[in-house]
Amino acid sequence: MAAQIIDGIAFANQTKQDVAARAAALKAAGKPVHLTAILVGGDHGAELYAERQGDGCRALGIDYTLLKFPVSISQRELKNEIRRLNKDVGVTGIMMHLPLPDHLDTARLQYEIDVVKDVEGVNPANIGYVVYKHTLIAPCTALAAVELVKSTGVQLRGAEVVVVGASVIVGKPVALLLIEQEATVTLCHIATRDLMAHTRRADVVVVAVGKAGLITGDHLKEGAVVVDVGINRITLPDGTRKTVGDVDFESAKEKASWLTPVPGGVGPVTVAMLLRNSVRSAELLK
Ligand code: NAP
Repeated sequence: MAAQIIDGIAFANQTKQDVAARAAALKAAGKPVHLTAILVGGDHGAELYAERQGDGCRALGIDYTLLKFPVSISQRELKNEIRRLNKDVGVTGIMMHLPLPDHLDTARLQYEIDVVKDVEGVNPANIGYVVYKHTLIAPCTALAAVELVKSTGVQLRGAEVVVVGASVIVGKPVALLLIEQEATVTLCHIATRDLMAHTRRADVVVVAVGKAGLITGDHLKEGAVVVDVGINRITLPDGTRKTVGDVDFESAKEKASWLTPVPGGVGPVTVAMLLRNSVRSAELLK
């Protein structure tokens, strides 16, 4: 079987249309969406990325402010800035560009972000809400992976789902979001004894590890839905550089029924989920 390709770019564009309509409705109601991003001591590349993100927001009717702080900012000063943004009724969403300089405690600062304004879903309280089936804002990449699984129309209730990779920001929230869909979820990680034994019985496989080609066609059951979150830069024998996922695309596409490409799969949808979360935060605050 040759897999159908899950088109992340098309899905992201559809999501952005919906985001623009919801942002326009909020603006008309006098409650514009306003995302504020924090950048600490970023280099030129990081600044450029953040400015581009602003362009992407404004194109959909989302106001965007980039707050730049010097690399010398202290933990207390940045914490106070976040607390100020939490209280500012004109700010509906807050995100922090990473990495932060080493002297800052990223997790503790993320915990400070107001749970509703937390558009990246990095405050642990937001993971807690997923567990209690009251999802407010879920982490963007995890949401993207789950939305792409759902976009195939696969029946998740009762399905065998294997998530490979157990990070706080991707693997674990993917597993929780799929449990919410009443799938039977197995979470595999570095200590998993026989990875192939798990993936071979899965109807759906989500891979988020960061190891090129970890999952091949041999790991898959015929007809599985496969979502590849991995992003790896590899060097080909001729010296050229290429971005690939964690799934060996060529062999997997002979076994899977649906498969995300890298690039063009989860990546663009992650960006769209940040925009969707931004609108959701503003709607929750309304
Ligand atoms: P991470 O924090 O490094 O987590 C990787 C997870 O995989 C860890 O739980 C790790 O376990 C586990 N692991 C390592 N080797 C394994 C193996 N052989 N079998 C099973 N599990 C294994 O990475 P991440 O932030 O979750 O990101 C994962 C990948 O997704 C990366 O390639 C990253 O670039 C990509 N990513 C993509 C997007 C996007 O928008 N498309 C966004 C975020 C991340 P241990 O910690 O115990 O080693």
